[in-house]
Amino acid sequence: MAGNKKKKTKVRPLLPRPGARYTCFGDGLCCTDIHGIGPLTKKEVGEMRRIYRGSAGWNDDHDDYMLNTAADGGCVFLMSDQRCSVHAQLGPEAKPDGCRRFPLGLAATPLGGRITTDHRCPCRTMGDRPEIRPEDVEPSISDGGSRPIADRRIKKIPFTAREELSFSEWEPIEAKYLNRLQSREPLLKILDAKAFPALRGSSWEKQAQEFIDARDGTQFGVAMAWVGDSIGSLRNGRSPRPPGRPWVAAFDRAQARSPKARTSRAVFGDWVADEVWSLKWAEDYDFALARTELATRLTIAEDICGRLRDSGARADRAAAEVVMMLEIVGESDFWTEVKDCMRPS
Ligand code: SF4
Repeated sequence: MAGNKKKKTKVRPLLPRPGARYTCFGDGLCCTDIHGIGPLTKKEVGEMRRIYRGSAGWNDDHDDYMLNTAADGGCVFLMSDQRCSVHAQLGPEAKPDGCRRFPLGLAATPLGGRITTDHRCPCRTMGDRPEIRPEDVEPSISDGGSRPIADRRIKKIPFTAREELSFSEWEPIEAKYLNRLQSREPLLKILDAKAFPALRGSSWEKQAQEFIDARDGTQFGVAMAWVGDSIGSLRNGRSPRPPGRPWVAAFDRAQARSPKARTSRAVFGDWVADEVWSLKWAEDYDFALARTELATRLTIAEDICGRLRDSGARADRAAAEVVMMLEIVGESDFWTEVKDCMRPS
């Protein structure tokens, strides 16, 4: 295929994914131990410690400087009404860069900067939200001045193990996927990849048990147990023993502000479209493996969603809770190990 080797990546123009919607409603989930709250630069650690001495420091688990959490898992600056006290007292620019950005991100490409969004945030997945506009999100993804900062730079697209595409070759192919993902077509049919491929040096049964054993008393551990339980039931016919639901309070708040329900298909389609659009996968592997990995997580997601629906959860909420679990687990070292073992057929 024609190369694009000399083309540089750029962050402008800022490009939102058509149809992507987000605004912060303050559901309060992102300021908790759903992920490490950081990393912080040394300068940010100093700034946070000037506000409250015990707020930040070196974290051995993350091998970096992070904000500290209180006993309930929330950031030490999180107030009981789920607002950030740094933001409330000193303004958004006083917060660490990572706090200003989440759940937004930026992928520099030869055609401009793609605005990306993580979906482990009910403000991104539930309720009526405005379309993302570059002018609204630019302050969040820029440094102290007005320079947008890229999380990744992707020059070419690894399409298969043997074929690389330039961006002008990739975009029309991708546009068809994105359009279909936002239709009513079954998602697994669009991905056209076999879920649960063979694993080099491992098995799905072993992985299911490892995920269940990863329960450590945190909400993340509960999400891991759900995924392990689902793999065991889908692959090995184990009787499901679903654990409790993580992050329920934040989803209660999200549902209370979202009277109009969406279908679970719409929530899942939006999530998969952003997974493709983010180009995170293109840093490490090709689109064929990306589709296989997504088909596997989506199959698990649909299974867990069905069980939450059976227990009475509203369709969009069930899907949003599951996307939260599958995205957090998908970012973990546990899932990275699984991905590295996948052999797409
Ligand atoms: S500093 Fe503020 S925005 Fe950042 S995690 Fe803490 S409460 Fe949330």
